[in-house]
Amino acid sequence: MDQSIQVTRPSMPEFTEYIEEIKDLWDSRWLTNNGKKHRQLENKLAEYLGAPFVTLFANGHSALECAIEVFDLAGEVITTPFTFASTTHAIVRNGLEPVFCDINPDDYTIDTEKIEKLISDKTSAIIPVHVYGNICNVYEIERIAGKYNLKVIYDSAHAFGVTVNGVGVANFGDISMFSFHATKVFNTIEGGALTYRNENLAKKINALKNFGITGQDSVEYIGYNAKMNEFQAAMGICNLRHVQEQIQKRKAVVERYRERLNGIRGITIPTEPQKGITSNYAYFPVVFDGYKYSRDEVVYRLRQQNIYARKYFYPLTSSFQCYKGRFDDKTTPTAKYIAEKILVLPLYADLDLKDVDRICDIILK
Ligand SMILES: *Cc1c(COP(=O)(O)O)cnc(C)c1O
Repeated sequence: MDQSIQVTRPSMPEFTEYIEEIKDLWDSRWLTNNGKKHRQLENKLAEYLGAPFVTLFANGHSALECAIEVFDLAGEVITTPFTFASTTHAIVRNGLEPVFCDINPDDYTIDTEKIEKLISDKTSAIIPVHVYGNICNVYEIERIAGKYNLKVIYDSAHAFGVTVNGVGVANFGDISMFSFHATKVFNTIEGGALTYRNENLAKKINALKNFGITGQDSVEYIGYNAKMNEFQAAMGICNLRHVQEQIQKRKAVVERYRERLNGIRGITIPTEPQKGITSNYAYFPVVFDGYKYSRDEVVYRLRQQNIYARKYFYPLTSSFQCYKGRFDDKTTPTAKYIAEKILVLPLYADLDLKDVDRICDIILK
């Protein structure tokens, strides 16, 4: 058996539970295109996320591209480079220009004090990221967006189920994107969703992910194909039954990391969520700054023991090879600094606390 510890490990239902869930697909032969499982999962997620409208997608990235496309945005979009490739790529692939704002040094979300200086007459939207499940300053972003008449699309890929003062995080901004990729807190193998409050968006969003088809004989949009299939939806239905329990198990892992790594000079562990904000315990990022080992040394020491932590997010998206010469990472010094020093430690529901201790021992030795 493989004894390695990866940074994450997908949650799965019992084999028999999944088999039971997909059984009727052999009778219905309805495998995709808004099937029964799909509709069921959409409803259950609307309830779980406290979101008025939910549209499922084949993956989070295609959902994000759709969210941008739906508003026919033009010009510039303010975003952060301390994120997964998806956020920046979605902006660029829609023919828009990302304008990179720096991040807060403590929660790594967009520094809202720096947003207004970046707004020009070409700015059409803000696409902030709830990094590691840390929630952006949503009220301040709402204020700025209102003042300058900008759309707000949240990359909520990390923020599944988080609530702010009792309100699901899906309720902020014009649209939020969630990812249900295998590695996320909740998964549908691959998958994603958009959530939104404006019912008028539903028609175009649902059409875009299905070739722009709006009726038997009508195609109103130049759409693409990003539909979630019934097997994915069935996995989601099963995983959603257990997600609360999975989050509780993640919490135990996070608490053990906190206990072991708290108060060590040169190691910064995540701050507790602000008052009124819940946590989904999605990630445990640690910053090594002035510690006896550098971040890269810690990566190497863990790897020697077959433990795979992840330099997440490094490099900044603005430093990707594919964007060579286009952006300057010196405009976001905090993001650049953090990206050099941060490491995401292994975290998943089934991670044994003994393994957490072993990981901490290697880091601390
Ligand atoms: C996972 C992720 C995405 C993309 O989601 P997929 O479902 O993998 O397409 C986008 N943004 C962030 C921050 C992510 O972590």
